[in-house]
Amino acid sequence: MIDRIAQLREKMASTIIKDKETLESFRRHFISKKGAISLLFEAFKELPTGEKKVIGPTLNSLKQAAEKKFKSAASAIEAKHVSVTGQSVDVTLPSFGPTIGSLHPLTIVQNKIISLFQRIGFNLVEGPEIVGDWHNFTALNFPDNHPARDMQDTFFVQRNPDQLLRTHTTSVQIAICETQSPPIRSIALGRVFRNEAVSARSHCFFHQLDGMYINTDVTFSDLKGTIYHFVETLFGQATKLRFRASYFPFTEPSAEVDINCRLCQGKGCTVCKHSGWVEILGAGMIDPNVLSNCHIDPEKYNGFAFGMGIERIAMLLYQIDDLRLFSENHLDFLRQFKSVLGH
Ligand SMILES: [Zn+2]
Repeated sequence: MIDRIAQLREKMASTIIKDKETLESFRRHFISKKGAISLLFEAFKELPTGEKKVIGPTLNSLKQAAEKKFKSAASAIEAKHVSVTGQSVDVTLPSFGPTIGSLHPLTIVQNKIISLFQRIGFNLVEGPEIVGDWHNFTALNFPDNHPARDMQDTFFVQRNPDQLLRTHTTSVQIAICETQSPPIRSIALGRVFRNEAVSARSHCFFHQLDGMYINTDVTFSDLKGTIYHFVETLFGQATKLRFRASYFPFTEPSAEVDINCRLCQGKGCTVCKHSGWVEILGAGMIDPNVLSNCHIDPEKYNGFAFGMGIERIAMLLYQIDDLRLFSENHLDFLRQFKSVLGH
């Protein structure tokens, strides 16, 4: 009996289990009810008690070794099968098809705005994100003590001479005015940077669109007509809007433009702070000083300018309540815009 156990142990050790077939033959040969080990147990029952005590533990350990080898081989074969095929394959199933991405909501809104201004003759212009003090502040009439010039509000890359991350895309318009002669009709679009705490309503960077028209005899009515075109095309004909007197260093007179709150239809809610109106942009007639700074004769030419945050427009258009969603790359958020055409 002892010899037989030793033989079986040797045979078991030298058996290689490499697939399901060899696993099954191992099971049949060693551990099934009619297998070699079961036969040994049958014979064991016939042994005298004294021998049972000696052989019992050895026989049990053989049985355990066989079961252990079977289990570990079975799980190895299963793991190998899954890693090769992923899962069992039904070749008759339809394929998944290519995964197509979607445009970012800000890109969708930018494309809409660019196209509606291009249709009325505005050219899209671009400029650098790092600019000097002149293009961002001085040429735009910002006084020396203006808070926007403070380290707390602006990211400076270098001091004396100052180089900074532009705080608005109006800096691009100054560069255009310096190099072109009127009539000028341009929109500048891009990322701008402000040293602000990140929250649902503000971020340290956002996208801005700045528009400008310079020619002879430009009137405030031209500005209003342009803004009406923008609002009605983007938000619909029924949208109400109002101009509120305001102040910007580079325009005079200046106005802020509100539209009626789309969430509550003007009845009042938390988004519009119960006023029924939400601000969408700032605008005004370009200050003659700004024209002089760009070597354009203010006696001969005048013009208007306007600026808006793209994120704000997108939030109103798609009723998004947190500015941070635009830059956090959550696929669940971005996938919602899959059906929106970006033009
Ligand atoms: Zn409201």
